[in-house]
Amino acid sequence: MRVAVVGAGYVGLVTAAGLAEHGHAVACIDVDESRVAALNRGEPPIFERGLQPLLQRNLGTRLVATTDLADAVRASELTLICVGTPARSDGSIDLSFVQRASEQIGGALYATSAFHAVAVKSTVLPGTSDQVVRPACELSSGKRAGVDFGIGVNPEFLTEGQAVADFMHPDRIVIGGDRGTVAVLRDLYAGFEGVPIVETSTSTAEMIKYASNAMLAAAISFANEIANLGSAIGGVDVAEVMRGVHLSRYFSTPQDDGTTVTASLSTFYEAGCGYGGSCLPKDVAALIARGRQAGSPLPLLEAVAGINDRQPAQLVELLRRELGPLQGRRITVLGLAFKPETDDVRCSPAFPTLRMLTEAGAEVTVQDPVVGPEVLHGVGDVAYVEDLSDAVKDADAIVIITRWDDYLQLPELVAMLDRPPLVVDGRRMLAKTSVPRYAGIGL
Ligand code: NAD
Repeated sequence: MRVAVVGAGYVGLVTAAGLAEHGHAVACIDVDESRVAALNRGEPPIFERGLQPLLQRNLGTRLVATTDLADAVRASELTLICVGTPARSDGSIDLSFVQRASEQIGGALYATSAFHAVAVKSTVLPGTSDQVVRPACELSSGKRAGVDFGIGVNPEFLTEGQAVADFMHPDRIVIGGDRGTVAVLRDLYAGFEGVPIVETSTSTAEMIKYASNAMLAAAISFANEIANLGSAIGGVDVAEVMRGVHLSRYFSTPQDDGTTVTASLSTFYEAGCGYGGSCLPKDVAALIARGRQAGSPLPLLEAVAGINDRQPAQLVELLRRELGPLQGRRITVLGLAFKPETDDVRCSPAFPTLRMLTEAGAEVTVQDPVVGPEVLHGVGDVAYVEDLSDAVKDADAIVIITRWDDYLQLPELVAMLDRPPLVVDGRRMLAKTSVPRYAGIGL
């Protein structure tokens, strides 16, 4: 099938490359010329494992990158909208990219005669495809949705850091829309054998994505709330608490051969310095804002977001508890990415942590194996060091923000130092006895 993918970000690019790998002819469109040029040179503009080989195999044959949306849409049977849906300052969803892309797609359809399906892959609130995408496409195309062209929804569930694997082997495919669009989407995914397809209304499909993300955010904040209470009471280690919780049959299912399969959901029921990224924070905020607007507030999700916002302060509290005032203390922050295996720093807990530390007068150094110093604006005076051993050698304290595998070397690195620093483990990724001075969330 000939497919146009609008937006060459984490979702659009992985979708475009993945669909090309499945044999479709894909045009990946972005307004960002430098991004398109990098792609056409075979350089992935984002860090995502497995993406480069996919690009190498398909670029120039089944996959092209372009800034010409109209041309790409007209040459396709299906357009997937994969543009960003960021949060506004009040938490509500900013649909301006979706609106603009829909107008442009409609404009491209103006002079076409064949049926064309338009499906929204971006995360949008229930009702958006009907109330925003449909009228924008109808107005600029002069055509009728459901007759001359189709509108549908096909939310994306990939996780950054494992986006290629998630896209190539999805756990579900959710589709909604008019009959023509659903038929096109079913054809698109025909090669994804054995993957359950949920076919439903557009609004339900849109809500499935939000409910999925809100549930994961709630799991994380639940574990953090238990962690914080454990710290306040004392004598409780949340890592062990959660290990005990995960052994329940709800998480760990005994198999006939005597082994146990642990649900990966258990990884969300673990305490840390909070969730970040381009999805959970903004999607929870968008649902909360929509709930208020609809007269159906979401007190549970408001608490989930509030707990998460306060969680980085727990790290600074631990530093103060162990070191006293932070003025002039040399503190090394490890990790800028919101999670390992990605270069995405959007809403990373690293930023509030860095701001609090510089405001407290600490001498702050930061290191990340993938993210460079270019993201360090608005956090105060922070030094960036590339090498992990250099980053830790003179520190009074080290704070782990991102669960990068590289940081598993810390016990070894710390053991070589004459004056071992305090290690504040924001992800509970090290054994608490692995370094001489250890403090962790929920310990
Ligand atoms: P992103 O910001 O990485 O990429 C969006 C891209 O769209 C940018 O490169 C931008 O230049 C481009 N763009 C914007 N308007 C355009 C237009 N009119 N024409 C062409 N290109 C345009 O965003 P993302 O992280 O890929 O997320 C996209 C959507 O998918 C969001 O709604 C997000 O919530 C959702 N989503 C993201 C993830 C994730 O892990 N990042 C997972 C599932 C769903």
